[in-house]
Amino acid sequence: MTVVLVAPLLFWGCPKENPPSKPRATVSKTTRPIDPPPLVVAAFNGERAMDHVKKQIDFGPRPPDTEQLAKTRAYITNELKSYGLAVSLDEFTAKTPQGEKKMANIVAEIPGETKTLILITSHYDTKFYKDMSFVGANDPAASVGTLIEIGRVLGSQKEKPKATYRLVFFDGEESICEGWSECGDEENPDNTYGSRHYVSQLHARNEIESTRAMILLDMMGYRNLELGRDPLSTRWLQDIIWQTGRALGYDKVFLDRTEGVGGDDHEPFLAAGVPAVDIIQLTSYPHWHRADDTIDKVSAQSMRIVGETILASLPKITEYIIKNNPQKVPSMKTIQE
Ligand SMILES: [Zn+2]
Repeated sequence: MTVVLVAPLLFWGCPKENPPSKPRATVSKTTRPIDPPPLVVAAFNGERAMDHVKKQIDFGPRPPDTEQLAKTRAYITNELKSYGLAVSLDEFTAKTPQGEKKMANIVAEIPGETKTLILITSHYDTKFYKDMSFVGANDPAASVGTLIEIGRVLGSQKEKPKATYRLVFFDGEESICEGWSECGDEENPDNTYGSRHYVSQLHARNEIESTRAMILLDMMGYRNLELGRDPLSTRWLQDIIWQTGRALGYDKVFLDRTEGVGGDDHEPFLAAGVPAVDIIQLTSYPHWHRADDTIDKVSAQSMRIVGETILASLPKITEYIIKNNPQKVPSMKTIQE
């Protein structure tokens, strides 16, 4: 594809605004690069992400509008604030098959030099089950833990990034009814409540045009991590992440096979023309929506692999947007026609 594969060493140079005064080739006179920029990628700590998974599971099942999810929200918010990030809640009431439910997306911003917005996201609710204690270690505690840790790393960066990064934790991704499309209709689907509301907020605040990329983490903490390509995702964005992951040595994780999931929280963004990618392991995760989606199924290493890859991809995504100015993706409807 159009993205050039680069050696991992070159990532250290990416966040710099100005090119070095001498061409890089002259560095070869010495045995190591002069004055290497901070090793941002190395800072992601899988054990910290794992600790966030434990904390979420300790709250119990966490469906929308429950005390358990409120506790989870407070935990995520406090963590992000402790890293110096500005955190806000996007609160709304959703009409669900169980009646009106209070929901809230959590938003944390890392201001950049420009208003170009890149969103890194995950849902943080667990699916409601009447007769099952579902704690969702991989769905979604691991992606939430990874996103919190990404927030810590980004918050610790000394230099402002070129693009503004926003971490968004969506409420109400899971359907209230057992099946994804069992309840609701096309106008009012019974799923992705938080992401649909957040897109409406981006429209209302005239931010939809400046939102140039959306990265979704959903079920990426399995100890046997294998990520296929979701065919709905925007190809250039997916390519940058896949190629970056492979360049970091994770070629056994970032696979070319299709992960045919469709839907998910990236769909409302794609429908609004925002390039979006879903990083998900669904078809080869045997514990999906089962009582045994427990902490022993996820690993610190898997979360680190995804966390490092996303952190290393962010400057490359920004670079791609600046260089190529990719236009709005066709809406979902256009794709289906
Ligand atoms: Zn789920």
